[in-house]
Amino acid sequence: MNRVDLHSHSTVSDGSYTPGEVVSMAVRAGLAGLALTDHDNIGGVTIAMQAGKREGILVVPGVEISAEFDRGTCHILGYFFDPSDKIFQEKLAYLQHARAERNPKIAKKLQKLGIDITYEEVQAIAGAEQVGRPHFARILMSKGIVKDFNEAFERFLGKGKAAYVDKFRYQPEEAFEMIQASGGVVVLAHPYTLNLPDDELNALLKKWIELGLRGIEVFYPDHTEEMIDHYSRIADTLGLIKTGGSDFHGNNKEGSILGDCGPRGCPSMDVIEQLRQSSASKSG
Ligand SMILES: [Zn+2]
Ligand SMILES: [Zn+2]
Repeated sequence: MNRVDLHSHSTVSDGSYTPGEVVSMAVRAGLAGLALTDHDNIGGVTIAMQAGKREGILVVPGVEISAEFDRGTCHILGYFFDPSDKIFQEKLAYLQHARAERNPKIAKKLQKLGIDITYEEVQAIAGAEQVGRPHFARILMSKGIVKDFNEAFERFLGKGKAAYVDKFRYQPEEAFEMIQASGGVVVLAHPYTLNLPDDELNALLKKWIELGLRGIEVFYPDHTEEMIDHYSRIADTLGLIKTGGSDFHGNNKEGSILGDCGPRGCPSMDVIEQLRQSSASKSG
């Protein structure tokens, strides 16, 4: 077994398992390597790395930063940064603050739509987890307002939908800078969510490569085999590292299974070495 899952979430962002639990699950899934990539938060990274050492699995520092992008959703993955970098931590804390301010606003919007929901209920269901849209979705499901997560996001919580609230984000270029300044390497997550036609995607990737982009997420559960081949070709042409992951969120995302990176499986251990070599620190 030398497969690695380079995209996963814990209770530090909107996943349902703690960093330690995610590491144990990765071991049980037979993975050789794991990156915890919580949204805008590296608070679980050190714990996960320590757990990895105990359990005999390579855990590399990871993060997923939501960046401003009008056309679609732009998530930037960072690997091999220094988790103790204070400036990086502060810049991420600013995003966490923006996220925290956003949640009560979502509750208000849902109330205005005539839905019987309070922010206290949302906090209660989140428990120790950082409140996020999946918790709103769970309440909408439990009240019978929607039948599943998809419907909750399609009707209410997704970008541009009835109860959507925008929040502060860094520009993609700023996210690149933050990751690189702390010694990390920059990878574009699930490229299809940028919502760009091929020619525009290619042009953008070329521009971003000059700014430090080193990889794209080719292996991903929502990618079809055709998409994987397509992004694989793009990566080969542009000299980008082909990463992949499950985007595991535990019970907070339907059908996400740790170690399931889509129809062509998860990337191999070599990818971790490629990322390490490309990181600004080259230490890991
Ligand atoms: Zn993402
Ligand atoms: Zn993710």
